[in-house]
Amino acid sequence: MSAGGAAPIRVGVAGAAGRMGQTVCEAVEGADDMVLAGRADPALGVELDGILADVDVVVDFTRPDTALDNARACVRAGVHAVVGTTGWDPSELAGEAGGGNVFVAPNFAIGAVLMMQFAAQASKYMTKAEIIELHHDQKLDAPSGTAARTADLMEGDVPIHSVRLPGLVAHQEVILGDVGQTLTIRHDSTDRTSFMPGVLLAIRRVGSLTESPLVGLEHLL
Ligand code: NAP
Repeated sequence: MSAGGAAPIRVGVAGAAGRMGQTVCEAVEGADDMVLAGRADPALGVELDGILADVDVVVDFTRPDTALDNARACVRAGVHAVVGTTGWDPSELAGEAGGGNVFVAPNFAIGAVLMMQFAAQASKYMTKAEIIELHHDQKLDAPSGTAARTADLMEGDVPIHSVRLPGLVAHQEVILGDVGQTLTIRHDSTDRTSFMPGVLLAIRRVGSLTESPLVGLEHLL
């Protein structure tokens, strides 16, 4: 039982051996109201199907080419999914029948959500904007999901430039230009723990969504 007396949320992690997945496992183990009930990853020899019967919610940090199938499998099994994997199209889940809800966030860091909101607001007043997103060199997708989402939220055509280098985690600059001035809005995730409060919030809320799939952490704040 959790501190409040309710049964703990049984959480499974897809991509549990990956960079984000390992951090999520530690965060879930540290949460009073959750229990880590399954870890799926090729490196662990465990498939997602093998943990679905044991969990209420799956957190997916896998690969762009597996996120859609994983989310479908969760919905069909009546398991809720919190998806952080980027580089896929959540609208392909529309009409998927089953009992599970799907929540997707291209970025679970509160500072990144604020950056996107400030950039969207600023784009209404300034003439042009471009985005530079910078990530570690193992990242599979480009442009990043955060940059694509930011551009979607902004007015006008916003070009995106992608930088991939060792030493980086997840960073983004939105530069807006107008006559005689520029405005730069920058966010830096210097550690993967920056995403964990948002992930834990989504785990707690995904079961009570009234819309699915729902995209964007701003809807839960
Ligand atoms: P990573 O270190 O490569 O981890 C992904 C793990 O998932 C790998 O161990 C991979 O195994 C495993 N995997 C692949 N297919 C799977 C499947 N069908 N079922 C279960 N596990 C599977 O990648 P990462 O750096 O953790 O990033 C993961 C994703 O999260 C990326 O899309 C990244 O852009 C995204 N991300 C999102 C946020 C956010 O806030 N939304 C923040 C950071 C990162 P193999 O290596 O054998 O394929």
